[in-house]
Amino acid sequence: MTKKNHWGKNKMDETLKQIRCRPECGFMVRSHSGAEVIELALMHVKKAHPTINVSPDELRKRIRTL
Ligand SMILES: [Zn+2]
Repeated sequence: MTKKNHWGKNKMDETLKQIRCRPECGFMVRSHSGAEVIELALMHVKKAHPTINVSPDELRKRIRTL
């Protein structure tokens, strides 16, 4: 598995991935697809925290595997 394909849209891993927003927000997203958690988290940040500018790369670093 190469790093490039690891987060590919169609690649499903067995591990569950999770991104949490700030504690005061409480938002959390989980998926088996790393690309999907990032996508959903980006959508959440844009909607709920329009003043925060976060890149997909930063979100990738925040992913926890369960
Ligand atoms: Zn949030």
